[in-house]
Amino acid sequence: MEGASAPDRAGARTLRNLIGREWVPSSADQVLEDRNPADGSLLALIPLSNARDVDLAVTAARSAQAVWRETGVLERARIVRRVGDALTAHRKELAQLVTKDMGKTVAEADAEVGRGIESVEAATAVATAMKGENLEGVASGVDVEMLRQPVGVVAAITPFNFPSMIPLWFLPFAIATGNGFVLKPSERDPLPAERIAELVSGVEGLPAGLVNLVHGGREAVNALLDHPGVDAISFVGQASTARYVASRAAENGKRFQALGGAKNALILMPDANMQASVPAITSSAFGAAGQRCLAGSVLVLVGTRAEQDAACKSVIDAARALKLGPGSDPATDVCPMVSPEARERAERFIEEAVSQGMDLLLDGRTEGRSDTQLAPTIIETSDADSPVVRDEVFGPVLSVVRVEDLDQALEFLNRSRYGNASMIFTTSGKAARHFKSRIDAGMIGINIGVPAPVAGFPFAGWKDSFDGDLHANGTDAFEFYTRKKVVTSRWP
Ligand code: NAD
Repeated sequence: MEGASAPDRAGARTLRNLIGREWVPSSADQVLEDRNPADGSLLALIPLSNARDVDLAVTAARSAQAVWRETGVLERARIVRRVGDALTAHRKELAQLVTKDMGKTVAEADAEVGRGIESVEAATAVATAMKGENLEGVASGVDVEMLRQPVGVVAAITPFNFPSMIPLWFLPFAIATGNGFVLKPSERDPLPAERIAELVSGVEGLPAGLVNLVHGGREAVNALLDHPGVDAISFVGQASTARYVASRAAENGKRFQALGGAKNALILMPDANMQASVPAITSSAFGAAGQRCLAGSVLVLVGTRAEQDAACKSVIDAARALKLGPGSDPATDVCPMVSPEARERAERFIEEAVSQGMDLLLDGRTEGRSDTQLAPTIIETSDADSPVVRDEVFGPVLSVVRVEDLDQALEFLNRSRYGNASMIFTTSGKAARHFKSRIDAGMIGINIGVPAPVAGFPFAGWKDSFDGDLHANGTDAFEFYTRKKVVTSRWP
């Protein structure tokens, strides 16, 4: 990918922004290092782009969008299908890039890229999804029709933990509906997004400049939020960043959807099928080293003390058996964390829990083989409001709380400030139905540890896990990227 970089003194390439169809050096004077979490090797230098860089990208998107919105919707759908074909043809390469840059296992990376391609496939339904409505004869000789039109230029600001899938929650729906697009990927692992942008911009029929990519951090985000040429913002990241982005977008009169952080619980009922539930629970808590927004990070044990003890022991044994290692090793279950800072942050939660006298049922700190690896850690507490139970750790740390029945579990869960996902393991249809009806969360798993909705359904949480109205993916995506125009006509 020579066009996207220039060799630098240290031998690492400095990434460039994709503006129009050209890879353009950023005018940033600061760069960040992008390192492989598994071995610390330097992969690239990332420029912290500024308002000038963002302006180039938005200007390119605006002028391409003027042409693109005139392209027939069926033709746009065909071109989006070609985007899916290009990504599918490079699925393995993209998955390897995700492993190298973010750290997750190749199997997890492949699943992530596959989920991203699903969003592209869902976006090809645009010719049906973008249809309007009409009503003949609202008065004598008067008809009304509602049209959907693209919002204009949309920007997506994405997090590190799904560096290929999350950009693809937005890009295909945005362009299928006729918009220009600017992506600001995570500055921690932008290589998969860079490759996706390169593949997409080479797709036949897409005007140059419809899809642009700007590397950077806070300054680039602020420039997108303030730019008058950006009409809508799609954001995914921590809850505090989501709230900030939503507020600043709203102040500037932009449409926004801001998906934030999470603290998801796994309820284990005494009647659950333990053989199926325990691996689902450990995979939810420790897969991708706990760095998923749908990771279960609190295990709520329901039942008698003896039932809880037996269930807890099974989870500890299964967690202890998980293999720690680099994502590139097919035998690895628990990958490294994205950075030494991320591991240190998770360790601080463990240390605080220990200092508060909590029971460390499994201590993953002793097994860490590098400054990014932390093995599964399980902490039991009777303090249901302590930070390790209530705050997002975003690491392989599972806290355990005990309750007597499902209603107590619901009461505990619904006090959370977050409402991204909640999972229950049970063989009782009655318990499952009661749970799905009463739980305050956007995505629910019944005997499913990571209940990620397929791309035809909306993806987002409730409460502090989401700011906005329309979720990512599904019919919400078509709604978010279009605005309605209602025409009332009379032909005397
Ligand atoms: P983050 O908030 O640090 O970064 C996300 C994006 O915001 C990045 O592009 C970053 O450059 C930008 N950013 C960060 N700080 C900023 C600031 N102060 N001002 C302006 N822009 C800023 O998130 P992350 O650590 O990369 O991602 C992990 C978080 O994302 C977790 O909290 C996780 O739960 C959440 N997440 C949520 C979902 C969901 O569907 N709700 C999905 C994936 C990840």
